Amino acid sequence: MHNILFKYKKGRRINIFCPECRKEVKYQIENLVENKTVHGLKLEYTTERAYCNDCNEEIYISELHDHNIQKIDDTYREKAGIIKVPKLKEILKQYNTDKRQLSLILCNDEKTLTRYMDGDIPSKSNSKTLKKIKEDYKFIKQLAEKNRHKVTDDAINNLIKDIKSLQQKN
Ligand SMILES: [Zn+2]
Repeated sequence: MHNILFKYKKGRRINIFCPECRKEVKYQIENLVENKTVHGLKLEYTTERAYCNDCNEEIYISELHDHNIQKIDDTYREKAGIIKVPKLKEILKQYNTDKRQLSLILCNDEKTLTRYMDGDIPSKSNSKTLKKIKEDYKFIKQLAEKNRHKVTDDAINNLIKDIKSLQQKN
């Protein structure tokens, strides 16, 4: 993502197609401060938008669009105290587990973490639980033991073994 953006920012000499001018044009990228209310929270964030040098109309660049969406999402999570995707990845690595297993330990839907990692915003209570899982070995062990019937014996035994070795390290 950052490489692509870097390419566009650096690439002011590269031409892109302007739908207004119906031709390849040079363009500028501008930073704009924008406001939006998401789930009742007022957010302020900076977006990056591309403008045609010839007609000044905004040109849609999907990479920039994705980057801006990500920025809004990050700002929302920051303000609402919702766990972010990199933290979810850290949890999986920390406990050497996968999205499906951790989802089943967390709730009944094995696709939950996949959705969260693809950008769905976790509920406040799931977010709180996930943050706790990250910090509190005793808590994840209890959760794993309570839900052991949902995953294979091997998976749960390995998870508990990993938790124990983390507990010993700390
Ligand atoms: Zn144009």
